[in-house]
Order: sequence, then C-alpha cells, then structure tokens
Amino acid sequence: MQGKLNVQTENIFPVIKKFLYSDHEIFLRELVSNAVDATQKLKTLSTRGDFKDELGDLTIDVKIDSKKKTLTVSDRGIGMTAEEVEKYINQIAFSGVSDFLDKYKDSHEPLIGHFGLGFYSAFMVSDKVEIFTKSWKEEPAQHWSCEGNPEFSMEEDKKHTDRGTDIVLHIADDCKEFLEESTILQLLKKYCRFMPVAIRFGEETVWVDSETDCDKDGNPKRVEKKQPRIINDPDPAWKKSPSSLTDEDYKKFYHELFPMNFEEPLFQIHLNVDYPFNLTGILYFPKVRKTIDPNRNKIQLYCNQVFVTDQVEGVVPDYLMLLHGVLDSPDIPLNVSRSYLQSDANVKKISTHISKKVADKLEEMSKKKEGEEKSALEEKWDDIKIFVQYGMLTDEKFCERAMKFYLLKGTDGTYYTLDSYREKIKALQTDKDKTVCYLYASDADAEHAYIEKAKAKGYDVLLMDSPLESHFVNLLEQKIEKTRFVRVDSDTVEKLIPHDDSIPEKLSKEEKEKLQPIIEAEIDKQKFTVQLESLESDDAPMQVTQSEFMRRYREMAQTSGGGMGFYGELPESYNLVVNINHPLISRVLNEADADKQKELVHQLTDLALLGNGLLKGEALSRFLKRSVEMI
Ligand code: ADP
Repeated sequence: MQGKLNVQTENIFPVIKKFLYSDHEIFLRELVSNAVDATQKLKTLSTRGDFKDELGDLTIDVKIDSKKKTLTVSDRGIGMTAEEVEKYINQIAFSGVSDFLDKYKDSHEPLIGHFGLGFYSAFMVSDKVEIFTKSWKEEPAQHWSCEGNPEFSMEEDKKHTDRGTDIVLHIADDCKEFLEESTILQLLKKYCRFMPVAIRFGEETVWVDSETDCDKDGNPKRVEKKQPRIINDPDPAWKKSPSSLTDEDYKKFYHELFPMNFEEPLFQIHLNVDYPFNLTGILYFPKVRKTIDPNRNKIQLYCNQVFVTDQVEGVVPDYLMLLHGVLDSPDIPLNVSRSYLQSDANVKKISTHISKKVADKLEEMSKKKEGEEKSALEEKWDDIKIFVQYGMLTDEKFCERAMKFYLLKGTDGTYYTLDSYREKIKALQTDKDKTVCYLYASDADAEHAYIEKAKAKGYDVLLMDSPLESHFVNLLEQKIEKTRFVRVDSDTVEKLIPHDDSIPEKLSKEEKEKLQPIIEAEIDKQKFTVQLESLESDDAPMQVTQSEFMRRYREMAQTSGGGMGFYGELPESYNLVVNINHPLISRVLNEADADKQKELVHQLTDLALLGNGLLKGEALSRFLKRSVEMI
C-alpha cells in the first residue's frame, strides 16, 4: 500500500529537522520510551490474563550498523497491527507533530523536555525511517517506510515473525555522530539510565573467575570476559519504599547519580506522594560550607523514569536548587515554556510540598534524642547553615517554619535556638530602650580582643561567619521585635549595649577642645573620626571601631550585586575612640614637649590600629622601631 500523510504544508519534515536543532538527540529518548511503553503494556496484558504466551526476554536492544548506516531500536512489546500503524503512526502521531509545531514553531523560549514530538522526532536525524512490527495479536507483521516526505509505504512483512517492533533509522549524512558507539552510549546514559525496562547496547568487558584455569593455589584465575552491556538501572532507589532502604543504599545511589561527586551527602529526604499529585524522588543535602555553588544543576527531573532535564528552575524554589538528587513526576507539564511552568498549579503544589518536607525533616532533626548530647541538626549545622539562611531569606513560608529550629552558634561552640538564646542573654544584654542586643563576631581570631572585652562584661558573643550573614541579621531584626545585632568591634564595649549609667568625665570641656586637634593632627582624617569618650580608666586609652550600620550595608551591597550600589561605593571608615579618663590621655594633654607629645599620640594610635588588625606594612615597621627606642 502507498499512502500520503495528512499534511498541511507540502513538506513538514525539513521543519522537524530544523526545529530544536540543538536538541536533535532527544529522538533517542522518544524512541526508547516508546519501546519501554510497548513492553510495559504487554506486561499489563499478561498480568491481566489477556496475553497468555510466554513473555520471554523483554530486553530492549539498541544497535548500530555502520555499513548500512542505520540505528535500530528493537522491543518485544505489544507491536502494532496494520490498522494500528495506520491509526497511531499515520494519523495520531502525525497530528501530534502538527499540533506541536503549530504551537511552538515561533516560540523563542526554551521548552521543558520537548515532549510531544514523539516518533516523528526520528526524522530530525534520518533520511528514511522504517518500522517492522508484529502485534501480539494473531495478525501479520507490517513493514512501514517513509523517506522524509509526506509519502509512505506499508506492506505485509512475511519475514518478520517475532512479536514486537524494530524502528530502523537511516541516519542522514549530516548526523553521522549518531552512528558512533560513544555518542549513543552517552545519550542512553543521559536519557535512559533509569528507564524501567532493561536496555542492551554493545558489549562490555568484565573480570570473572575462570571456569577452566586455576592459579598454583588452586583458586580460579581472574579472566576478562565480554558480555552484553545493560546501560540502565530499571529499579532505581527513588522508586523503592523508603523503609526498604538503608543509609548505605541511599549513599550508593547518590554516587550512582553523581559519579563525579566524591563527597558524601549529609542526609536525604525520600519523597513519595501519590495524591493530589504524583511525585517521587530523593533529595540529598550536600555540604554547603562557605559559598553558594553557582552551578546548581544537580537535581535531575524525570517523568516516569525518563530523564527530562537537569535545569529545574521554576519547578523548585531557588534555595532548594542547592540540593542534589532526583524528582520524578508525570504531573509536571513538560512541553511548555519555563515561564508557563512557574504558573502551573501542579508545579506550585509540588514545589510547596517539597519545601514543607524539607522543613519537616530539619525540624525533626532538631529534636534531641534521649541520651544524646547533640541533636542531629547540631551535628550537621555548620554544613547546612547557609542553605537554611538562603531559604529563610528567599522563602517566606520556609522562614516561618525555620524560625523554630534555626540555630545560633556561640563563639564557644554552643548551639542555641532563637528562643533559648534570647532567654539566655535577656538579663544582661537589654539596653536602656528595652531592645535585646545580640553581639556577634564574623571572625573569632581577628576580633579576639573585642570578644574578650565583651565576655569580661558578662556578655555572650555569637559567631556569625557566613557570606549571607549581613542580610540574615537584617532579616532577624525584622522578624524578632526589639532586637538589634551588633558586631563586637562596632563600638566600645560600654556603648555596644547602652545602659543608663554613665561614667563621670575626668576632663573639662576646655581640655577636651584642646585634646581633639592634637590627636587629629596625627591621623588620616579621611579614614578616621576621632571620638572622645568617657570610659573606665582601666579601659584601653584608644580603640578603633567601625559602625555596624555602615559595615553591614557595605557588605550587603557587595553580596547582592546591584541595587544597593551607593553603599558598596562608600569608603571604609572607622572611629578612633579616645578614652578621656585614661591616665595616658592626660599625659598626652599635659606633655609640654611637642615632639614627645607627637610620639606618644603615634604610639597610642598605632596600638589601637594593631588591636584591630589595621596596622600593616611600613606603618607597622615604624611602630616596631619606635617601640624599641621608647623602651
Ligand atoms: P506517544 O508515544 O506520545 O503516544 P508517538 O508519536 O511516539 O507518541 O507514538 C504514537 C503511538 O505509536 C504510540 O502511542 C503507540 O501507540 C505507537 N507506537 C510507537 N512506537 C511503538 C512501539 N515501539 N511499539 C508499539 N507501539 C508503538
């Protein structure tokens, strides 16, 4: 029989060919998925008792014939009768292609997965496509053939007696890469790695015990053996019941998914929902230490075990893209653009569900088990803190949940929940306006002197050292009423938490006016502002501080990129706090010899800079020399 496909445009095949030019490779996914579907359908018929013969070996074969320049996908599934070829291939499949092209021909947005092109995607890489098929029903086999134009031929095929379908692609000259074993292997590994029916392609070499040769101790020799290569794992961990899997199984699967990731994941969440949408998958928490990995394509999206994409923007909230793993859902629309995806109701539900599961897991981990010193969350906290912070900063709902389990860490290594920490510091660290002041350090070594001073006053100091901290501190100030965060070096210890009690001043107004210019004359006024303050007489004579507000906004501008430009461009500026009650400051004021006075001021300012880590290079050398001379 000769026939003509029902096409509007005279030749639709060049269009198919050009379309998705960069994604030609998906034809293989489409054909192997069809083979899997045909096999699964036969299994269903068999369990229902409609198909009574032996199922036999159902493995799908992919073969290259480089002489004939063909690539063949063979299955032993249900096959098609002549009527079915007419209906499914000539009519339905084809109208599917027309719809698809009509809809997306002019689309400039990348589509998710490009599902919908189906069988006809074979024409993206072939000059000619043949189908040899024999239905499971008692009907003759068929041979269908089409050369990339609307004409096709179909005839009975007397030679073909086995049940199932062979799709033979005569690969076009400009697509020769699809005749190379390495290309096909790589594509099968990408798209078919977890398809539910075994897929055979080429051979592999394995080491086995020899059946005939022994070594001198009588043990069988190890020998190389060639065997057919099965490229997929038809029963991946995410499809199994969570109760049947151990932690080891999950880790093993992680390495199967990401053979190039050598670090162990911290823990995982196994997703398993079938109502009101269908979703399975495993999400692993990797270590996120100091930076947020910009390379976030570590979540693979599958549709019934068929790989779709590893670009899941829009499917899960941004912060969850820091996780690694697989999601499998037939309820995520795949032949749509990314912007459409974000507004899809199912996608929204799925994404909310995942966020909730992540929060549930972290909350559960925050509960201390009996007899354990630390909760599971405390154990892993340093490795996932940034992840939680990023989630709280970008997802309102997650933030609400996380306020209950978020952990603050003291500079002594103790962890506290937000509530318990507030209880702990409330008594000593509430200022005169009833605001509770949380003191923190970004770097325990660099700010050591300041931390010690605060501790001597009975204050507690937190360690807040992630790159998101300045944004995060702002968030907590908004979320918890009457709260202020101050870095320990942002003011003198007296002023970090202002109380009502002030210390009597030892200098008169005139003396202060005389002192100010003496000190200002010796410092870089662009960078430092002199502040005369009445502190305890045994406190340091001079100290350098940096305003919390200025520093925090500069840091935020640097990590947000754009939008806050003004703050990012502010020069670094510091305060030079002079303790007017210190005896050495009185000595400066009363020193009659101008040179000696200068030298004393230099020595004191240098000491203050040294305490803040700001004295460097030539200034540091001069200080060292001067110190030796003074001794
Ligand atoms: P889809 O798979 O999305 O339905 P396709 O264009 O890929 O669209 O295929 C159209 C139809 O052709 C399928 O629904 C199926 O009925 C039939 N078909 C395709 N490939 C096979 C096969 N290997 N074995 C049996 N039937 C097939």
